[in-house]
Amino acid sequence: MTQRSNQVAVAPPVPQVAPPLAALLELTHRCPLQCPYCSNPLELERVQAELSTEAWLRVIGELADLGVLQIHFSGGEPTVRHDLVDFVRHGAERGLYSNLITSGAAIDRGRFQELVDAGLDHVQLSFQDAEAKSAERISHVRGIQDKKYTFASWVRESGLPLTVNAVIHRQNIDHVDDMIALAVKLDAARLEVAHAQYYGWGLANRAALMPSRSQLEAVTRKVNIARETYRGRLVIDYVVPDYYAQQPKSCMGGWGRQFLNITPSGKVLPCHAAETIPGLQFDSVAHHSLGEIWQNSQAFQRFRGTDWMPEPCRSCDQREIDWGGCRCQALAIAGDAAATDPSCAKSSLHSKMLSLATGEATATAPEFRYRRFSSAGGVSPVTQVADSRRNLD
Ligand code: SF4
Ligand code: SF4
Repeated sequence: MTQRSNQVAVAPPVPQVAPPLAALLELTHRCPLQCPYCSNPLELERVQAELSTEAWLRVIGELADLGVLQIHFSGGEPTVRHDLVDFVRHGAERGLYSNLITSGAAIDRGRFQELVDAGLDHVQLSFQDAEAKSAERISHVRGIQDKKYTFASWVRESGLPLTVNAVIHRQNIDHVDDMIALAVKLDAARLEVAHAQYYGWGLANRAALMPSRSQLEAVTRKVNIARETYRGRLVIDYVVPDYYAQQPKSCMGGWGRQFLNITPSGKVLPCHAAETIPGLQFDSVAHHSLGEIWQNSQAFQRFRGTDWMPEPCRSCDQREIDWGGCRCQALAIAGDAAATDPSCAKSSLHSKMLSLATGEATATAPEFRYRRFSSAGGVSPVTQVADSRRNLD
């Protein structure tokens, strides 16, 4: 005789994904600068599409509820948002460590002090070059260097730690020693020497940015010497260009494992370049909670973990170290976001990637294609940046 249980069958629990450690909030795509390596998408989001103050405040609260530890205010240029102080204050109230990633070109001293008073924890300031004329040419903004020096002095006077971000490419790579000296002079605690990444505008300008292997080797030597020289005074992080690598970097610490990115209009992405990948569906904070998106969104599930991996990644002992590398790069080079990252020596496209790099690095550099909003419709991206419209047009 069979016995009927009077217990209701319970579905097995869906495994929960650990919360992200950090979130990048792209508050706006507006920016007074026009860097040709900008990681923003070619199709920039308009001011009319940006999330409201209330929506961002809700998002920051949800990030805290989710267990996120750090929020990075980015863009575009985040200081063009008039409500940035409110966001910093709310983050501080909710116990989030906040970092401002800025060009320093669109803020005055009073407003910076408001950010400090609201609880800002850290500032990352970008430099396009150590040499002022070159910095003007790369950013396409006249007088940019003096503005940055002044801003850096405000940061240090406030007592906040300063990181200098130096994006390196073939048109400024010979000035890396000066960039290091600049970071020391500005009393930065950290310098990030990062070779340009080839997504978004960087991919569109790859031939104008790609260094040669000998340039790369020279800068690597210089960075290693400087690390010794400034030990205890300046920490130098160094990001090499993937095109000359043998093994990919663990992009974002693995897809959907540690990090999320929110665009100005509220789309939640596993990485800032993920929109280049066709077939991914990005949920918006306007329609879903961040917790739901982090756990269940198709875009996060697609390349999370190792089940999606093809060979040779599937049976590789590095698969839970580099997580198969960068999906956006696989798309850009292999035409398939699910392919092994071609920067890996085990990829069948590794030599193609290398010859692409060496071919571009040795040819004459083309003109920069500057980061600009398309002329179709919409408001000027810099309408709120009264002090920084002196670009080189
Ligand atoms: S990379 Fe340059 S253009 Fe892009 S957001 Fe940063 S400062 Fe602006
Ligand atoms: S085969 Fe895949 S997992 Fe192994 S090192 Fe290369 S990219 Fe990483």
